[in-house]
Amino acid sequence: MSLTEITARMTKAAEKAGRSMDEPTLIAVSKVQPNERVEAVLKAGHRVFGENKVQEAAGKWPDFRERYDGIQLHLIGPLQTNKVRQAMQLAQAIHTVDRPKLATTVARLAQDMGTCPDLFIQVNTGEEPQKAGVLPPDADGFVREVRALDLPLKGLMCIPPVDEEPSLHFALLAKIAARNGLAGLSMGMSGDFESAIALGATHIRVGSAIFGERVYK
Ligand SMILES: *Cc1c(COP(=O)(O)O)cnc(C)c1O
Repeated sequence: MSLTEITARMTKAAEKAGRSMDEPTLIAVSKVQPNERVEAVLKAGHRVFGENKVQEAAGKWPDFRERYDGIQLHLIGPLQTNKVRQAMQLAQAIHTVDRPKLATTVARLAQDMGTCPDLFIQVNTGEEPQKAGVLPPDADGFVREVRALDLPLKGLMCIPPVDEEPSLHFALLAKIAARNGLAGLSMGMSGDFESAIALGATHIRVGSAIFGERVYK
């Protein structure tokens, strides 16, 4: 599917939800994709991208940045504490703040570096043991902790369980964000971004629908 088709579907979903004036940000998730495909999307004028791994991001984005202006990189994968500095140097947003140790590390480095990416807290809305994120009952407390560190907390992020109706998880995430006064909602992927937009997504993370299937080697 082309970028134009995705944005047309986004506009339609936003209009249908009565929110045509505040269309969400499309994060083109480029993890694992060959550089030619990423470059084609850059050439088409898109500038907002998502990566899962700090190392992979560090391997390709400094180079692209030398050739294209205005690139915004979002880190959307689990983040180890020892990679935080590099993550903060590379990315304009981190969507996966999910534990106190990570938050305090980001806060210490933000002091040190004098700058901090936009932050999202990942919520494990499906309470899946293998998945990162704070559990829904712990979310309000963790939001307070992150705010107490004076960090630029923008919103919440979730990845619904593969075998469940995603809209239930989007609605839960939206409810937790609303009661905490958070405007940002990072939710919706290739298969479900329209329903995420209907439920208030401000950032959708779309990979395969833009770039084609990922081929893991
Ligand atoms: C890979 C990934 C995506 C994109 O998934 P697609 O189904 O290819 O759109 C979105 N969010 C996260 C956190 C991912 O890891």
